[in-house]
Amino acid sequence: MTDTAAPPSAPADKKERWTAQWKELYAEVITTGLCTGCAGCVVTCPHDVIGYEHEEGKYIPFHLEEELGLDNCIHGEKGCTTCTRACPRFRAWEPAADMHLFGRVREPDEMAGIWRQLLLTRASEKTVHEMGQDGGFVSAMLIWLRENDYIDAALVSGVEDDDQWKAKPAIVTTKEEILATAGSRYTYCANPLALPEAKERGFERLAMVGMGCQTSSPPVMWDRKAGKVSKPFLFNIGLLCSKTFDDAIFTELFEAKYGLRKADMVKMNIKGVFQIWMKDGSYHEIDLKECHQWTREGCKHCPDFAAEHSDIATGGIGVDNDWTLTIVRTELGEEVIGRMIADGVIESRPAQEDDEAMRLLRLLSIVSRRRWPADADPAPAIGVPPPKKKKAAPAPAPAAGS
Ligand SMILES: Cc1cc2nc3c(=O)[nH]c(=O)nc-3n(C[C@H](O)[C@H](O)[C@H](O)COP(=O)(O)OP(=O)(O)OC[C@H]3O[C@@H](n4cnc5c(N)ncnc54)[C@H](O)[C@@H]3O)c2cc1C
Ligand code: SF4
Ligand code: SF4
Repeated sequence: MTDTAAPPSAPADKKERWTAQWKELYAEVITTGLCTGCAGCVVTCPHDVIGYEHEEGKYIPFHLEEELGLDNCIHGEKGCTTCTRACPRFRAWEPAADMHLFGRVREPDEMAGIWRQLLLTRASEKTVHEMGQDGGFVSAMLIWLRENDYIDAALVSGVEDDDQWKAKPAIVTTKEEILATAGSRYTYCANPLALPEAKERGFERLAMVGMGCQTSSPPVMWDRKAGKVSKPFLFNIGLLCSKTFDDAIFTELFEAKYGLRKADMVKMNIKGVFQIWMKDGSYHEIDLKECHQWTREGCKHCPDFAAEHSDIATGGIGVDNDWTLTIVRTELGEEVIGRMIADGVIESRPAQEDDEAMRLLRLLSIVSRRRWPADADPAPAIGVPPPKKKKAAPAPAPAAGS
């Protein structure tokens, strides 16, 4: 080291005092289209002044007090900064969460984030496997975490009583409840919104299942020292995700064009096409290009396909439909998966055996990162290769040696 280099603890390296409040969140995240609707700011606001409507076309926070208008907060003016500390899209959120979880930022080529193990897993118990979306790994893990006293409850996506495809945030504590909420709904569900009820019921150790936009929030809060609001999140289980759809897709596309009524659907999945299984036993495939116009607004700039800040991220890409691609990221994630394998509750094999899963993981991570706007914090776009140029019409044969 030269005598001009500052030691790591020198005052120049100290973090600046964090002063950003709702005013900055509104200007830099909500009005710029970066807001994913994750509800991290909503559930952590200590003054309960951030509202949210879990409804079609909404999924975006708004300020409830009118004193200073939509774009400023009286508590923020007095020094409250919790909402920006909780927001997984505010300023340098990716390096903040990376540093907190892994002690380093991702390398430019780590498109799917930092990980320790890549596995394909599935629940050993037949019922759990069958009720799961892919391998039933997420449900098996929630059951195991409860039975082994890691958690008191989990924040997941349930469904409305009168509509099995209208997702709503829910709390589960028993194996029956976990299995009743298994499977994927492809509309948005802000699972953190179940936090207040979890607190009311006295649950202090929580697992959260959610897409990357949701599972980045706790590590960002930990790094930005949001305080006790961030304490209950103990285990974050990520779901790989390219987008979610507006609820209107059911009536405006599936029913209007294909006659597929929501009430008659039994399962759906996305494997290159939108797959729908109906009660009458019929199976339908809908081209994803047709679905694009129902992409939810909050997903359009999202750079995180691989839930890069979860303890374990899970997805269904690859050649086998009934295995879960399992990306083990943290030390805690590795401890849990090791114990689950030793207990025989899941089967596992190296994901690298599935070339297609590896190819898609990288490709879809790149595609998502390309959506991140150039005028936002640069970190999520670092290392992202530009799209390949479309092949031009056949040109005359090149001269030898060119
Ligand atoms: C909106 C969405 C998009 C996805 N996109 C992809 C993708 O592009 N590529 C890919 O490989 N995988 C994707 N996945 C993940 C995949 O569908 C499976 O969730 C994952 O492989 C785990 O499967 P499993 O059988 O282990 O989970 P299960 O045991 O079936 O458990 C699934 C868990 O997800 C929760 N959940 C269901 N729907 C939602 C929702 N809308 N919001 C929040 N939580 C929910 C359930 O409550 C349950 O806890 C997506 C999932 C969702 C919900
Ligand atoms: S991304 Fe989440 S935390 Fe940030 S403003 Fe939107 S809802 Fe709030
Ligand atoms: S694409 Fe998925 S991870 Fe990104 S904002 Fe939408 S729901 Fe969240």
